[in-house]
Amino acid sequence: MEEFQYQKGKLFCEGVDIQNLTRRIETPFYLYSYRKIIDNFREIKNSFALLSPLVCYSLKANDNLTLCRILSEEGAGADIVSGGELYKALLAGFSPHKIIFAGVGKGEKEIKEAIEEDIFMFNIESEGEWEVIERIARRLNKGVKISIRVNPDIDPETHRYITTGKKENKFGLNFSQAEKLYKEIKKSDKVEPRGIHIHIGSQITTPYPYFQSLKKVLKFVRHLQEEGIDLEYIDIGGGFGISYEETKPALKIKELVEIIAPLIQKMEMKLILEPGRYIMGNAGVLVTRVRYKKRMESKTFIIVDAGMNDLIRPSLYGAYHRIKKVKEPQNDSIEEIVDVVGPICESGDFFAQERSLPKIEEGEYLAIMDTGAYGFSMSSSYNARPRLAEILVKDKRWWIIRERESYQDLVRKEIIPQDLFSNRPLMQNSYLPFTKMEGSGNDFIIVDNRLSLLQNGREFALKFCPRKKGIGADGVLILKESSKADFKVQIFNSDGSEAEMCGNGARCIAHFAYLKGITGRRGSFETLAGIISYEIQNENRVKVKMSDPHSISLNIALSLGKESLRGHYLNTGVPHFVLFVPKIEEAPLEDLAPRIRYHSKFKPAGTNVDFVEVGKNILRMRTYERGVEGETLACGTGAVASAIISNLIYSLDSPIKVRTRGGELSVYFEKAGKEKFANVFLEGEAEVVYEGKITIR
Ligand code: PLP
Repeated sequence: MEEFQYQKGKLFCEGVDIQNLTRRIETPFYLYSYRKIIDNFREIKNSFALLSPLVCYSLKANDNLTLCRILSEEGAGADIVSGGELYKALLAGFSPHKIIFAGVGKGEKEIKEAIEEDIFMFNIESEGEWEVIERIARRLNKGVKISIRVNPDIDPETHRYITTGKKENKFGLNFSQAEKLYKEIKKSDKVEPRGIHIHIGSQITTPYPYFQSLKKVLKFVRHLQEEGIDLEYIDIGGGFGISYEETKPALKIKELVEIIAPLIQKMEMKLILEPGRYIMGNAGVLVTRVRYKKRMESKTFIIVDAGMNDLIRPSLYGAYHRIKKVKEPQNDSIEEIVDVVGPICESGDFFAQERSLPKIEEGEYLAIMDTGAYGFSMSSSYNARPRLAEILVKDKRWWIIRERESYQDLVRKEIIPQDLFSNRPLMQNSYLPFTKMEGSGNDFIIVDNRLSLLQNGREFALKFCPRKKGIGADGVLILKESSKADFKVQIFNSDGSEAEMCGNGARCIAHFAYLKGITGRRGSFETLAGIISYEIQNENRVKVKMSDPHSISLNIALSLGKESLRGHYLNTGVPHFVLFVPKIEEAPLEDLAPRIRYHSKFKPAGTNVDFVEVGKNILRMRTYERGVEGETLACGTGAVASAIISNLIYSLDSPIKVRTRGGELSVYFEKAGKEKFANVFLEGEAEVVYEGKITIR
């Protein structure tokens, strides 16, 4: 494991000193080597080069998006077993045409999603599954390619929990069942039998089980040929074993190729591989800190801060992992027989038992080796322990590729039914977490209130929006559960009034929901102005679908005392009055806007007021906002209002850029009639300013 080596007495991951990293990142954490992932993948690719295989990385080994992306960029395909893995594989950039869907119990929903994405192939495992695939393919009017997974009844000589190709295992079909099913499928005009699949187990360290099962399978393929079923692909699954112990070497890939290549070449079949562990296993370590050293009558326990919830392999399979001190032990250092255990309330919570290790002291850091595969991906939050951070190293640089979960993450999806308890606030004298966000200069306090910690949004806005005595914000966005969309948002202005909708707020809440994992890049939320859908474009840019503008009334004459002026009214979720001015900076906003806002024509709701200068391919806009009762740096619904009116008056076409004092927005729309518009989108930035907590009394 040359990417994890001692240099001058310290354990390094590539060019990064792990001890130094522990000063920056709270332990325990997973640490991966970029170089090792690439090398392992290339070793497989190059060793099998004469068979030009499609190497589908098995996401179950480790589905971290960054690690998957490294492999998708190397040209790998993906082996998935769920709708979630399909989602992650696509996010990580794997081409759908290189995705293979395996698994003994695929659900209808995930099958449909995979067919819709046009994945390469399903590896099917039962007649029932084939019927579901056929029905959905027919309904969607799509063609589907399949392999049947056969169970060759071979002992791969590995742990019984990771043996999958023996007849007593739940996986695959026996040869006669498979033959019957191939013949049945051949009749379908939607589903095409194209290949055959085996996966006999994991952590296989000799080539012979592959050879034996392949011989059986190829004999069967020949028989199928005689029966008129010609298969093009042979998928031999994954399972390539790595070396967890010095004395137990890894599978020799070259040897495997030497003995199986002649069989495959003779059949002229295309090869598919599904390695997981071999690529990730020795590319990762689990870094943990020794909390206590406890001597009991019969044993000495090293109690570390990682637990079986973080790495379950030792508890589940009795798996062996080397443990190294992050500070290199001296040659003459004393060894002690110890159990390395975690803090979980289970006796099965151990990483090593009766192991002879160089003397370990409290406060030291240890690396549990070869934990890149089936480490994080099998972890849980048992004992309410937030799941760990994951760090990637490349040369001397490192990145957090997954943040450590917070306590809030632990309760994120929990719902306390409000009507089950009295109305008393849930957490007296407790903390309410909030996020301060900003979208084009409009700032908001965002509260995730799915646990109903906050009782009164109006009071909260009045108390915390003031800039001198509160947090300071133009408004408050309160996220709640919704039965109609991914979530619901209540919007309060700084004067405590509730707003139907706010364009900049919409971008902020959408980005918030994405960052907190409440939705993916696409989602929707409920507002008083209807359901709003959105898409996160890249880091901070968010595109929000706005409600269709209505109540458009052009060229309204307003008399304001002695003066009179003309403007245009419409509702873009909230009411707006748009006035065109020759020079935006000279617009008489302070004088006119409050009088327009309260004008009898717009009573009782009042209106926002937008001053707009039409420039070359751009509008410049300043807005007086109702509720804030003053000018804000930008207004999303105002930008939409200005763009729509500019289309009607000056024939400007979508997309229209709107420059505000807070930043630039883009408005997209389609014309659906004389004064009718549809598919209106507002795009702009939305950023987190900071996060904090408020005491609730
Ligand atoms: N393919 C299938 C169908 C599997 O079930 C598995 C894991 O059990 C793999 C591939 C990956 O196995 P490994 O990580 O041992 O290479």
